[in-house]
Formats: sequence, structure tokens, C-alpha cells
Amino acid sequence: MGNKDINSKSRLAIVLSKINGFFDPKVRLEQYMTDSEVGAAILWFSYMNEDINGKIVADLGSGTGILGLGALLLGASKVYLVEIDKDAIDIAKNNYETLKSEYNIPGEAIFINSDVFDFNEEVDVVIENPPFGVKLEHADRDFLNQAMKVSKKIYSLHKSESKGFIDAFSKDNRFKLLEELSVNYPLKQTMEFHKKKIHRFDASWFVLEKA
Ligand code: SAH
Repeated sequence: MGNKDINSKSRLAIVLSKINGFFDPKVRLEQYMTDSEVGAAILWFSYMNEDINGKIVADLGSGTGILGLGALLLGASKVYLVEIDKDAIDIAKNNYETLKSEYNIPGEAIFINSDVFDFNEEVDVVIENPPFGVKLEHADRDFLNQAMKVSKKIYSLHKSESKGFIDAFSKDNRFKLLEELSVNYPLKQTMEFHKKKIHRFDASWFVLEKA
């Protein structure tokens, strides 16, 4: 593992909770930082599945970096953080520098400020919390499609109600839905139109593998 001191999921969640989110989240890009507990849950799960340590990982729509940087903390050899928004990439780079000053990060972080649809590097694993397609129509499907082009193993967060669609879409693309890790997602009030301080909804990490 990359860090002797990050030896449990709860410890990882604490470290991730200190990562900076978006200063001024953009509604049209559906910028929501992954909750630290929800992020730690999937990073630890994939780490235990031997999909992180020594692996090449891509975080598609990486935002301020919580998932990709978390993978580096757990010993990924290389992580591509692909993000269309320059402001978010800048925050991610700062987060990386801060973590590096505190933790041993042997792997390489590669920040790519571009559209995920222009990213074509082959990787071992994709970990993504893509836009759910509320403002960007079909973004969830398009992100999955891109993930399938570059990787044989995918961990992707969606609303739980999308399961039927994800299952069918996987089959159409010769992937298999291996597992579903359900989380009660605490969506914090970060946008002006949010009425509640925390809005909880059922989300799932879907684990897909090339059949
Ligand atoms: N993965 C981050 C951010 C999730 S929000 C986290 O877990 O915290 C979704 C992110 O996708 C936003 O940062 C948004 O700017 C980015 N995004 C949306 N459309 C994109 C596209 N076409 N290409 C690259 N990034 C995109």
C-alpha cells in the first residue's frame, strides 16, 4: 500500500474529508464533490478487490480529485484525473500537493484538462462519479460508454434506480454488472436551488467488468 498510516476505510474517510471541494460549483457541469464516506467506501472496496494497488487508474470527470487522489493514497501506480473544468483541475492540483506534503504517494498523478470523450489512454480501472445526466442529458450513459472504451473494469456511481438501465447497457456493450454497493447518499446544499441542508437519496456504486 502507499501509506502505512492509511490502514482502514475509516482512516481513509477522515483523510478524504479534508480534501477541498469546488469553490464555486458549476450547475451546468453537475459539479458535486463525492461525499468522503461514500468515496472511501468504494476506494476501500476496490482496493480489497486488488484493483488499486500498483494499478493504472482513470478518474473521469475528476472534479477536485477526491477519487483519483484517494486511489493514489492507496498505492495506485498512475492515476489520470480527467476534468473539463480548469478551475476544478487547479483545486485538484492543490489538493494533491497538500496530500503529498503529508503522505507518501509513490504513484504518478496526471492531470488532464479536457473533455472525457477526448481521453483514450488504456487503463486497468476507471473510478468515476459522473454527472447523473440531470443538466447534461445522457451524461451518465456517455461517461459509462467512454469508461468502457478505456478499461475492462469500472466502478461508477449512479442513482440506484438506474440499475436496470446500467445492467442492460452493460450487456449491450459486452460488460457484466458484477456488483452493486448501495449507499445512502448525503447530498449537501452546495447550489443555490438546493432547499434542504442535506438531501439523502439512494445511490449505488456499480462494478462492471468486461465479459
Ligand atoms: N469526480 C469528482 C467530481 C464529480 S462531479 C468527485 O467525485 O468529487 C462531475 C464532474 O464531471 C465535474 O467536476 C464536472 O466538471 C465534470 N464533467 C462534466 N462533464 C464533463 C466532460 N464532458 N468531460 C470532463 N469532465 C466533465
